[in-house]
Amino acid sequence: MIDSIAVRVPAKVNAQLAVGGRRPHGFHDLANVFLAVGLYDEITVTPADELRITVEGPDADQVPRDRTNLAARAAELLAACHGIEPKVRIHIAKDIPVAGGMAGGSADGAGALLACDALWNTGASREELLDICAELGSDVPFSLVGGVALGRGRGELLTPLAVGGTFHWVFAAADGGLSTPAVYGECDRLRAERGAGDTIDDVPAPEPSAALLDALRAGDATALAAALAAGPDGSSNDLQAAAVSLRPSLADTLRAGTEAGALASLVSGSGPTCAFLAKDAAGAQQVATALAASGTCRTARVATSPADGATVVREDRRAPSA
Ligand code: ATP
Repeated sequence: MIDSIAVRVPAKVNAQLAVGGRRPHGFHDLANVFLAVGLYDEITVTPADELRITVEGPDADQVPRDRTNLAARAAELLAACHGIEPKVRIHIAKDIPVAGGMAGGSADGAGALLACDALWNTGASREELLDICAELGSDVPFSLVGGVALGRGRGELLTPLAVGGTFHWVFAAADGGLSTPAVYGECDRLRAERGAGDTIDDVPAPEPSAALLDALRAGDATALAAALAAGPDGSSNDLQAAAVSLRPSLADTLRAGTEAGALASLVSGSGPTCAFLAKDAAGAQQVATALAASGTCRTARVATSPADGATVVREDRRAPSA
């Protein structure tokens, strides 16, 4: 009998986040180049009397314990599909910054889904799990799959991408998060303010950068850095200007990383975490040390990409009673 299952699930950085114009229902079409990075949450599920969430880690107090937690929603959706009562304790050991633009909630949703699937032995196909992920949120399918992938639509229609080597990053977490919808709203506002318009008729359809995909395929950090700095606002991340507009201090963080020798500096997704690409492991350590001393961020952590998607790392079995 299985007593508990633990799943490790990575954070992500968007090497490119091309944002199309606002659709009438408010969503934006994306060309989203996801890289899974080696910062992880670990989700452990254990049979219990009722669905319960517990959280540990430095940001634990910012994580909801109720049914709005994506891990709880994942368990409920999978249970409903298979006629199971979701009686499970979900423990989240949280290392991914909360509301940091690194898909931490999505990671927990994908991790809880995989863990509950293994605990309940549902026999769900990979397609069924991916469908549930897409229902949970645009970034959740990628958290399950990991590696490197292009996300179209709202980011949930994934195509795996080839990657020719390991990339070395530094992630600078900020105090306090940024709301993803607020950052999209600010992106629309800035576009409208420039006079070019912000709807799908005004903004070119988002397309992945060929130079960026070539750099990933070649495992070439210098070429990737050049591609990360290309784009309408000097960044491959179309949300960067909006995140900096809402949190002007991010400009200082980005500058500190560049001055410390980063090959490229960008806001991760909707921010406020900033990502810095380094030449190698030693370069990443040097940038992290300088950022930590700069006073422009809360923490600076090194991590590599690509990383595996959600993976079962432990399965504890109860000894059969005599
Ligand atoms: P993304 O990069 O996908 O936009 P994010 O990394 O910026 O997301 P999250 O850490 O996913 O942000 O948190 C966004 C909000 O989601 C939180 O403020 C919180 O209210 C809610 N949330 C729901 N479930 C979780 C979870 N398991 N962990 C963290 N936040 C969660």
